[in-house]
Amino acid sequence: MEVIDNQPWNRGPLDPSPIDREYFEAAAQGRLIIQKCADCGNTQFPPKALCVSCGQVPDWIEASGKGKIYTFTVVRRHGVEPFSSLAPFVLAMIDIPEGARFMGNITCRDPETTQVGQNVEAYALRIDETMALPLWRSTQST
Ligand SMILES: [Zn+2]
Repeated sequence: MEVIDNQPWNRGPLDPSPIDREYFEAAAQGRLIIQKCADCGNTQFPPKALCVSCGQVPDWIEASGKGKIYTFTVVRRHGVEPFSSLAPFVLAMIDIPEGARFMGNITCRDPETTQVGQNVEAYALRIDETMALPLWRSTQST
């Protein structure tokens, strides 16, 4: 996945848990990772200490970065920064071929063009030297 380095991070400091930090650090290296359980095969997002299906410690696998919008909403007003400045923005549930369903932002110039079933791809916005935030965009846009 592409990592965008030339946009200043203006969404405030991020202090993730150790498990979430692995996800953000992989993103800074251009890898979208999700958890997969070696015992039961469950894939899950967001990352958790244990498999939500069977309670074992899950492994990390790299996802392709491709996805399809399952459903979405356009957030037009938000009471908390940095989200109030970002509104309107698209919050979507995204199905990926590896099996997990992501909750994430679709970034686009016009939220009204977003559609259920639309193909999207992950990219990452650099936070600092070690972390980046995965976001999603339409595969048709540049
Ligand atoms: Zn499991």
